[in-house]
Amino acid sequence: MDLSVRTFLPLGAFLGLAAAAFAQNAMPSPNLDGIASGKTRVIDLSYPISDKMVPWPGDARVFEASINATVEKNGYFTRSFWMLEHYGTHMDAPVHFPPGTTTVDKIAPEKFFGPAVVVDVRKEADRDPDYQLTVKRLETWESDHGQIPAGAIVVLKTGWASRWPDVVRYRNQDANQKMHFPGFSLDAAKFLLARQVRGLGCDTLSIDPGNSPDFPVHHLVLGAGIYQLENLSDLKNVPESGAFLIAAPIKLEGGSGGPVRVFALVAEK
Ligand SMILES: [Zn+2]
Repeated sequence: MDLSVRTFLPLGAFLGLAAAAFAQNAMPSPNLDGIASGKTRVIDLSYPISDKMVPWPGDARVFEASINATVEKNGYFTRSFWMLEHYGTHMDAPVHFPPGTTTVDKIAPEKFFGPAVVVDVRKEADRDPDYQLTVKRLETWESDHGQIPAGAIVVLKTGWASRWPDVVRYRNQDANQKMHFPGFSLDAAKFLLARQVRGLGCDTLSIDPGNSPDFPVHHLVLGAGIYQLENLSDLKNVPESGAFLIAAPIKLEGGSGGPVRVFALVAEK
């Protein structure tokens, strides 16, 4: 059976429908069957995992890998590894904050797929590292691209990925160790929850701005059962609208989150 056609066409049609929600400034919509032909580009938004990634301040032990078997000795090569759940490009499951809510293995898999709403705030973040995404900026996005569709995955493009993996510049801590990087405001998060989005993401260490002492967006968003993607890699080739996101986390039983492989599907013009 020709799997590529029989299994991929219906989902391809679905992706087309999802992208059709962006009526204004319509970009060509990505189709899964375009991946093989090169008409749909796959952009990897996850950093390679090693001990060289930027940890949250205070996280001393972050990642270790050791060789268990080698081809020379054993006839095959294997390693074992240990890492934090919240290190590098990762997903926060709802249970990361409100106790008793959804663990990473229990998030419904359909929630890992959605049209990408990319809010480009690189200019704002350049001017002010404490920039918080505003409702006004989201309204501008909607006047440019149409209403944010239910099921979207909304990603903040701050340009912070250009600082990766420079720990000092990425955390941007002041003399009091307070970090300074952009994030979502509580009002923007409320606006997005009302749009029934599936997930929020950012190219910084946290969905909340770096100078936040109490993570109000984490409380609100995870409390609403929505997951978060943090430390996404460079979003420069992902357009503000028209791309499709796939966010596939490790299926770690009982996990508060974990490493996630995130792909953006983008139609070639
Ligand atoms: Zn996290």
